Amino acid sequence: MNAQRITSPEDPALGQLCGQLAEMADALDEKGTWPAEQLKLCGEYGVYQWFLEPTWGGQAWNEEAILQGYMALSAGCLTTTFIITQRSGACRRIAGSDNRQLKERLLPSLAAGTTFSTVGISHLTTSRQHLLKPVLRAVRVSGGYVLDGFSPWVTGAAHAQSIVVAATMVESDGVQGNGVEGMDSANRQPTGEQLLVALPTDLPGVSVPAPARLTGLSASHTGQLRLKQTFVKNQDVIAGPTEDVMASGQGGTTGGFQTSALALGVAQAAIDSIAQEALHRDNLQAPLEALQAEHEQIRTELFALVRGEPICTNQQLRGHANSLVLRTTQAALSAAKGSGYLMGHPASRWCREALFFLVWSCPQPVVQANLCELAGILD
Ligand SMILES: Cc1cc2nc3c(=O)[nH]c(=O)nc-3n(C[C@H](O)[C@H](O)[C@H](O)COP(=O)(O)OP(=O)(O)OC[C@H]3O[C@@H](n4cnc5c(N)ncnc54)[C@H](O)[C@@H]3O)c2cc1C
Repeated sequence: MNAQRITSPEDPALGQLCGQLAEMADALDEKGTWPAEQLKLCGEYGVYQWFLEPTWGGQAWNEEAILQGYMALSAGCLTTTFIITQRSGACRRIAGSDNRQLKERLLPSLAAGTTFSTVGISHLTTSRQHLLKPVLRAVRVSGGYVLDGFSPWVTGAAHAQSIVVAATMVESDGVQGNGVEGMDSANRQPTGEQLLVALPTDLPGVSVPAPARLTGLSASHTGQLRLKQTFVKNQDVIAGPTEDVMASGQGGTTGGFQTSALALGVAQAAIDSIAQEALHRDNLQAPLEALQAEHEQIRTELFALVRGEPICTNQQLRGHANSLVLRTTQAALSAAKGSGYLMGHPASRWCREALFFLVWSCPQPVVQANLCELAGILD
């Protein structure tokens, strides 16, 4: 097909794309196969260009426009949109690097949608933080680094040509050559520095086990990425070694605005379905209006934060968005009654998908706020 390139969140082509994604969303959820067709469609509509500068073939949308785009896309298909957030997270990390040659090598095909990249960074942010030993380690050797261990959660790793991976630097003991043979970094002391690389997935020692079966979003093919003494060249380094490498350069932060935007998108889809039911059932009108008003309020909170005129903190926003997406999706299920509980009905899918926001990129204060709300403990 000849899709029209979407040039702004107001572009009617965005509505066309979202309609097509929504039509395929239930079948995608049931089959759990990688959404290759949906991602190709997004490429044809120019979605991947939103996130990159014109130098690389992008349209460089501002943050507000990107979040509007994300809200619309996630109302159509959360799984596809979530994969795009991981892809654009990788793109932003690469684009924020000082490594010009790496950018020239990777970014044009990522903007065009002909290659796929994703991120494996949660083990430095929101996963495995209570463990004493780092799960993914890097040792400096001549010409690069040897990486060993695993990243616990990587979306679409088996479909990626490159993965933005973070690793904890451990002592090298003066290893000579590229030192790959027989190197065991598991018991080496961390140096206090971290490394961020754009890992080519065809390197020796890279493996991706079958993806995990999930409560929702199984089609995101999320699972472990394993590295066994993988030699990564200096040319593939994005940033570091340095302390707190995730704070260097640019890129998405944990619990950032995009998570709330996606929650608002799914909540919007659920509210729209209640509105459809309410056309024939007066008793749905009052809850519908209350949920619509709350959605509008949280939307206002989101964009106030983006414009630098906050009316709440980012963590409060995330808590509000999580609460809303859980309640709107369950309200949609209640309105759809037993039919909504059938697999293949969107209300059933939205309820499972809403649970994702309780665990995705959730810093500890957000987890705590969710738990307190669920326990009925007020702020
Ligand atoms: C579908 C999905 C897709 C994802 N995609 C990506 C991706 O593409 N890239 C990426 O980087 N990340 C991704 N993530 C990771 C995500 O952002 C979070 O980092 C992840 O959900 C954190 O969960 P965890 O179980 O690893 O947390 P952990 O904190 O490691 O908890 C694991 C277990 O450890 C125990 N535990 C936790 N805290 C403590 C403690 N203080 N003391 C003792 N025991 C404790 C608990 O039993 C817990 O169940 C994804 C997650 C999901 C669910």
